[in-house]
Amino acid sequence: QEDIFRKVISHAKEYGYVFQSSEIYDGLSAVYDYAQNGAELKKNIREYWWKAMVQMNDNIVGIDSAIFMHPTVWKASGHVDAFNDPLIDNKDSKKRYRADVLVEDYTAKIEAKIEKEVAKAEKRFGDAFDKAEFLATNPRVLGYQEQITTILKRLGSSLEKEDLADVKLLIEELEIVCPLSGSKNWTDVKQFNLMFGTKIGASADSSMDLYLRPETAQGIFVNFLNVQKTGRMKIPFGIAQIGKAFRNEIVARQFIFRQREFEQMEMQFFIRPGSQKEWYETWKEKRMKWHLSLGLGQDNYRFHDHEKLAHYADAAADIEFRFPFGFKELEGIHSRTDFDLASHEKFSGKKLQYFDPELNESYVPYVVETSIGLDRMFLAVFSNSLMEEELENGSSRTVLKLPAVLAPNKAAILPLVKKDGLPELAHEILEDLKWDFNVVYDEKDAVGRRYRRQDANGTPFCITVDHQTLEDRTVTIRHRDTMEQQRVAIEDVKAIIHKEVDM
Ligand code: ATP
Repeated sequence: QEDIFRKVISHAKEYGYVFQSSEIYDGLSAVYDYAQNGAELKKNIREYWWKAMVQMNDNIVGIDSAIFMHPTVWKASGHVDAFNDPLIDNKDSKKRYRADVLVEDYTAKIEAKIEKEVAKAEKRFGDAFDKAEFLATNPRVLGYQEQITTILKRLGSSLEKEDLADVKLLIEELEIVCPLSGSKNWTDVKQFNLMFGTKIGASADSSMDLYLRPETAQGIFVNFLNVQKTGRMKIPFGIAQIGKAFRNEIVARQFIFRQREFEQMEMQFFIRPGSQKEWYETWKEKRMKWHLSLGLGQDNYRFHDHEKLAHYADAAADIEFRFPFGFKELEGIHSRTDFDLASHEKFSGKKLQYFDPELNESYVPYVVETSIGLDRMFLAVFSNSLMEEELENGSSRTVLKLPAVLAPNKAAILPLVKKDGLPELAHEILEDLKWDFNVVYDEKDAVGRRYRRQDANGTPFCITVDHQTLEDRTVTIRHRDTMEQQRVAIEDVKAIIHKEVDM
């Protein structure tokens, strides 16, 4: 699995999708740049979401609010007081850990130990091996499970209760049963706020402390009444937005999965109090459908319903995706009650109520939100699409089977040879197609190698111009996934591509 993940990261770099930020200065941890192909893929995911949420729903509108917001916003939202990660330092290694992530690491470590026992036994018993029975009866496996699961359970509940002294003791205990860092010397657990601070204004006394927004949602809440009134929106209605968010993540790893600067696609749906259960279920279902529409495989998604709820929620679920490092949160669907609007009313002193003409009464609406990380979606799509395929002739190819609607370039135009007027004709085709799609031109190397290059780039179609094209104005169109080639008239090419790539 680690191997696959490493391949994903290196492919993203080699084919111009994602680069480490400031690479010539050895990079900046957990910050990434999207390269020529990555920027296009990201833009297409953005559009795919916007279209489904805003264009296709006549009761959802989109906004684009500022990253900087009045500092009191973050007091009202709870981020100043409650947006914390529990941190613990190892005194010997001088390494810093997030206590909740450390729990995941111990869990993974113990799972690996058990897997090792299983592999050993499998080798020993061969065909007679029964994994289920082995797991249920092997004393060593049972020992691991008993020790670790009880501690991990206690640790989970201490984290939930923010009982930090207890968290430290339990981590020390874990370190004895399942050494991870090789050291027992830990500091106390501290809470660390994830918001980035900055200042606005030039002079020292007139400057004001600000935060970079850690989520886009608050820009929607503070604009709720403006949008409702100017758009004459009637409840239920939604406001959507895509934009950057910033979090000073402590455990920065897993490539673009967890970054310090990332992009969110959020939608807050304003509803009558009391109708939240129904809307929460509706949005869970709608969002899952959106994911499945991309065809990345139903088995790669699952819901995770939260038992532990954030301070603002009365129900919450994640849509988890099978990333190369396991199932992890890709999107959150939260029933936020009237927490945010009521809190902004309190802090701002302004009424944020909606007059419901049908009920003939005013109320603070409830909110169901859907919140997905664009970068995580990018990683989901990209890692799921990267494949190593064995071909019939015994060779293999690397192919990036991106959904055609999302692919950065829709077609590559390839003159078979660099002479006889084929490049000119290829350019003529390109000039026509580029009004509709991103297309690239490639004349270097043998055509087989160019096909491979486009496969690895994720381009769904290759259009080859050869000598026959000069005679009858037909080309071959090669499909990336099946590698099938068809001979078609130049004038039909556009329609063939449109059919596959239109959103
Ligand atoms: P996690 O538990 O993984 O830190 P979260 O529960 O804090 O995520 P939310 O606050 O619900 O995440 O944010 C909504 C979405 O934003 C997440 O589902 C995820 O896709 C994305 N997201 C959150 N933090 C990051 C990050 N540091 N880098 C990239 N995407 C992120």
